[in-house]
Amino acid sequence: MTRGLSDREQRVCSAIARREQAVIDDLALHVALPTGGGNRAAIDESRERLTSRTRALGATVDLRPGQSPPSWLHGAAHPHLPPLPVAVCRRDRGLGPAVLLAGHLDTVHDPLGPFQRLVIDGSRSRATGPGCVDMKGGLVIALAALEALEECGVALDWTMLLNADEETGSFQSSAVILHESQAVAQRPMGGVGIALEPASSDGGLVTQRSGSGQFVLVFTGIAAHVGRDFSRGVSAVNRLAEAVLRCAELSRPEDGAIVNIGPIQGGHATNVVPDHAQAWGNVRFSTTQQCQALCASLDLIARSVGGTCHVAVGRPAKPCTPDVERFALSVRTVSEALGLPLPFASTGGVCDGNLMQAAGLVTLDTLGVRGGGLHTTGEWIELDTLVRRCQLLAVSMMRAATGQA
Ligand SMILES: [Zn+2]
Repeated sequence: MTRGLSDREQRVCSAIARREQAVIDDLALHVALPTGGGNRAAIDESRERLTSRTRALGATVDLRPGQSPPSWLHGAAHPHLPPLPVAVCRRDRGLGPAVLLAGHLDTVHDPLGPFQRLVIDGSRSRATGPGCVDMKGGLVIALAALEALEECGVALDWTMLLNADEETGSFQSSAVILHESQAVAQRPMGGVGIALEPASSDGGLVTQRSGSGQFVLVFTGIAAHVGRDFSRGVSAVNRLAEAVLRCAELSRPEDGAIVNIGPIQGGHATNVVPDHAQAWGNVRFSTTQQCQALCASLDLIARSVGGTCHVAVGRPAKPCTPDVERFALSVRTVSEALGLPLPFASTGGVCDGNLMQAAGLVTLDTLGVRGGGLHTTGEWIELDTLVRRCQLLAVSMMRAATGQA
C-alpha cells in the first residue's frame, strides 16, 4: 500500500513492478541497436519494434515524411538520403484530455564505435550503454507504462511520436511535432505533452529550458595571388574574423544569452587571399524577445562587414508557465508517493519539449529515466529506479488524462 495513490493507481504500479525484468531485457535490446550517426537500419528496426507494440495496444501508426533541413546547417543534413520520417502512434478513444508522448530513437553515439551494449554492474543497481538514459530507457518505460495501463483496463487517449533526428536539432521532424502538439492542445478537453528525456543529474524535473538556434555567417572577398596582387585582394577570412569577435561580445550568459561560434572555415591555400569564409554557430536564449534581439544583432554585424547571416531557431525557449508549474507539482506529488523526491530544475539544454510547448501544449520533458554521463561513452542508467520512474510516468499520465494534473 503506497500512501497517496488510489487503488487503481496502485494496481497499475503493481503491473509495472511485475514487468521489471522484461523492461531491462527490452532496454538491452534497444541499446544494442546502434541508432546513432543516422544509421537507418537500426533506426528502422527500433521504430518497428516500438510501433508494433503500440499497434498491439490498438494504436494506429502513421509514418509521416520528415522535412529537409536548411542546406547550410553544419552536420545535420544527409544530402543523398530522404529526410527521416516520424512515426505517429495514436490511441484515440475520444474520452478526455490526451497525452502526447515524444521520444527520439537516435543517439549521439558512433554506430561503429566500441560502446555498443548494455552492461549491468554486479549489484544490478546501474548499467552503462549507448543511449541507455538518453533516451532508450525513456522509450522502454513508456511502452511498459502504456501496456500496464491497458492490462489494468485504464483507458486513456494518447499519441506517441517517434523521431530520429532529435540529437541533430529535430529540423526534419519539427513540423510533425508542432502539428501533433497543436492538435492535442486544441482538443475540446485539451491535454499535456510529455517528452521522455532523462531526469536532470540530481533526479530533478526540468521545468524551464533555454531556446536554441543555429546560424551561419558567410563572407565573400576577392581572391588574389599573395606575392603578385596582394593589395587587389579582399580577404573573406579577415571579414569573418572581425564579425566573429563582434558576435562573441553579444553573449551575456548571466542573462541567458549565449553566442557560440565554431566550426569555422575559410580559404584553401596560404598563398591565395581567401575569397570565401564561413562560420557556424549556436545561440541560446531565455525569452522570445532575447532571441529576436540576438538574431537581429547577428544579422546587423554580418551585413556591416559585407557578409550575410542565416539563422534557424529550431527550439524556442520553454518558460515555466503557471500551467507547467501546476503539472509539475502534480507529478511531484506522485513521485513523492513513490518514494522519489522530485526537485525542480532549469537548464540551458534543449529538447523536443521546447517545440511541444511552443505549439501551445503544456509540456514536461524529463519524465524518462534517471542516470548520467549523457553523450559520453560512460553513459549510465540507474536500474534500481527504473520501475519507479515507469510508475511515475504511468500515474502522471492517468492523472493528466482524467484532468487531475
Ligand atoms: Zn535526448
